[in-house]
Amino acid sequence: MSTTLVTGGTGFIGSWVVKQLLEKGYTVRITARDKNRKDKFAHLSAIADASSGTLEVWEADLLKQGSFDEAAKGCEGIIHIASPFILDVKDAQKDLVDPAVKGTQNVLSAASKSGTVKKVVLTSSVASVHGDSVDMKDQNLSEFTEEQWNTTSTLTHQPYSFSKVQAEKSAWKIADAQSDWKLVVINPAFVLGPTLIESSSSESLKVMRDMLKGKFRTGAAELYFGFVDVRDVAKAHVLALESDTAEGRHIISERVMNFLDMANVIGAEFPGKYKLPKSLAPKFMMYLMGWAFGATIKFVKQNIGYPIKLNSTKSREALGLEYIKVEDTIKDMVNQMEDMNMVR
Ligand code: NDP
Repeated sequence: MSTTLVTGGTGFIGSWVVKQLLEKGYTVRITARDKNRKDKFAHLSAIADASSGTLEVWEADLLKQGSFDEAAKGCEGIIHIASPFILDVKDAQKDLVDPAVKGTQNVLSAASKSGTVKKVVLTSSVASVHGDSVDMKDQNLSEFTEEQWNTTSTLTHQPYSFSKVQAEKSAWKIADAQSDWKLVVINPAFVLGPTLIESSSSESLKVMRDMLKGKFRTGAAELYFGFVDVRDVAKAHVLALESDTAEGRHIISERVMNFLDMANVIGAEFPGKYKLPKSLAPKFMMYLMGWAFGATIKFVKQNIGYPIKLNSTKSREALGLEYIKVEDTIKDMVNQMEDMNMVR
């Protein structure tokens, strides 16, 4: 896999994947929508200069058919990460589903046309495994595993999750219809950790910024998420790329917590520094105030107050992933955001 194409290499997760590959000596081809926007990948050029690997920058857009064909030629591996992770969108089809699904189809078509690609690692999400938190109870499950699929998200309800499940399903359909390359899927939970770039629009950075700026200080939503360190998510991609035996889907999650738990971790590491929530917001308050955080009545009803459990055993046993503790993830993330003057 010495030459590997990484889509979304300019993003929060992608930058760590590129860094780890460069440090292992890979030739990494990243794609940018506009090659002239050097600010998007200057941090990666600096990493490449200090590592044994080589960075190549190609131009490609998820929405342009055939866009990845040239970049994929001569690569043995592709890690397809690019997809918008934004919750506040005007047109869910155009802004989320099209780039996720058409983008995946474009990238996989480039893999097939290349004649050289043997492995594709796709960044899906736990959002492709389950939709609402209440799904676990409704489906009579004690935990979510790689066996489950999100059946409850739609274009109008949890459209980001819908975009991820549609993209992953499309990927498996394409992969199963050919034998030139193997597909391995990574399904990360909510990703936190130090960022290599400030400009990402990832919700990961937005949620931490909002938390540190006191947006949730009147009360934290009792919303449960799996949390995982961005460096571990990157490592999972690299392990999946390099392992001959890696197959199927992989839930990547260190621990499930709610937002008050997250605030308490920050409070313990940085006592008195931030205006953090001290209690959970009652559900009726979320019905009244949820709109201020972009939550619909249906979202509040189906998600607030329903703990979830994510089984990440496969990532530990099949990929050999050893997780960074969430306390260290959060401490490193806040320190780095402070260093980069991102908490303004
Ligand atoms: P970022 O917003 O930081 O990264 C998104 C990447 O996708 C950027 O490199 C962006 O490029 C690229 N991209 C977006 N639209 C296009 C397009 N039309 N054409 C080409 N490239 C495009 O988000 P994250 O790093 O957080 O997310 C990366 C992936 O991980 C996504 O697939 C997301 O669904 C998935 N994921 C994220 C989780 C998280 O908690 N962060 C959890 C689970 C999955 P550009 O720099 O030009 O904007």
